[in-house]
Amino acid sequence: MNILVLGAGQLARMMSLAGAPLNINIISYDVGSEKLVHPLTLQVSDQSLAAAIAECDAITAEFEHIPDDVLTLCAASGKFYPGKQAIKVGGDRSIEKALLDKTGVPCAPYQLITDRSHLDVAIENLGLPLVIKTCQAGYDGKGQWRIRADSNIEQIWSEMSDFLAAGSKNAPHAIIAEKMIPFQREVSVIGARDKQGNMAIYPVTENEHTNGVLTLSIAKSIATDIHRQAVDAFSKLASEMDYVGVLAIEFFDVDGRLMVNEIAPRVHNSGHWTQQGTLCSQFENHLRAIAGLPLGTTEAIGPSAMINVLGQPDIPTEVLSVANVTSHWYGKTQRPGRKMGHINLVAESEEALGEKLLALSAFLLEDDYPGVARRGRDLSRG
Ligand code: ATP
Ligand code: MG
Repeated sequence: MNILVLGAGQLARMMSLAGAPLNINIISYDVGSEKLVHPLTLQVSDQSLAAAIAECDAITAEFEHIPDDVLTLCAASGKFYPGKQAIKVGGDRSIEKALLDKTGVPCAPYQLITDRSHLDVAIENLGLPLVIKTCQAGYDGKGQWRIRADSNIEQIWSEMSDFLAAGSKNAPHAIIAEKMIPFQREVSVIGARDKQGNMAIYPVTENEHTNGVLTLSIAKSIATDIHRQAVDAFSKLASEMDYVGVLAIEFFDVDGRLMVNEIAPRVHNSGHWTQQGTLCSQFENHLRAIAGLPLGTTEAIGPSAMINVLGQPDIPTEVLSVANVTSHWYGKTQRPGRKMGHINLVAESEEALGEKLLALSAFLLEDDYPGVARRGRDLSRG
């Protein structure tokens, strides 16, 4: 079976690696160069996008910022999962918020901003501090501003209005102001839904972000009530979109109540631990769902963690000497802060996971790998 993936980054690469044992072949469409490439070697093919769409068995996407005409072309084939509308939910925060409002799934209170007066309304109604996010084109904390009591609002507005002005009639830009949520932690839920509506959901993951970028994920036992809220949000949102494939939902945990931060209509960085922490990774389950195959198990083999490698060209080889630790590289050229790869670990118990994190913290410095030592200490104490 041949699957076309829109996007040629690490998520397409890991889909390709998961697809091989299933006899599923992945070809990537690099939206930047508008060329078809092999997701592992990045070797360019001379096939046209139209030919690839015609010849493949299914189409999917590894990110949301895809030109509308490409989405339309893929949708017309009848083979595109999770489909154009779901990709728009992930690529436009105003569409995402509308879906959350419609399904009644709690999210951060917000105000849509398309002119200066809306900003005043947001400050008045939501109060400071505010998190301001572009509705289109944001990722890894980019396209965001924070407004606090002492912020220079006119300076921030001038940057916001530049973004609004860069929109066009066919692709208008908007901005969303959100109340700054005083959360205790961030969690995410990832699951797959097949064409018949069956769902397979992974254990809820705890995520730590540093400067807006995911640095550490931990999958371990979680309060039943948190699990129930996450699964409830997942089934409401996936059913409403008639979703097929893997869907990720990020939440803020505020005193035990989950509030959606973001919906990602794709495999997600906070689900990378499933490569070793389960017998059927998020990449494999995504391919199974869109290929019409039965979904695989989402049960964790044991408490697991994922550490992002940001901006580092390599890791000390000692990391791999810790039992049940694996590294996953994306084959990218190094840039400061860039997601270069990740480290997965799985353990027999939460204490053992803590001990492994502590062992790794001897080789992974706090500045580059924030939280590894702290979480290691907390978990190993039991
Ligand atoms: P990505 O798509 O890579 O996950 P993004 O650029 O789309 O990131 P968000 O997920 O919206 O951005 O925000 C990044 C991080 O900023 C969040 O994980 C959270 O730590 C913080 N953040 C975002 N919105 C709020 C909010 N309303 N209140 C408090 N913190 C927030
Ligand atoms: Mg996010």
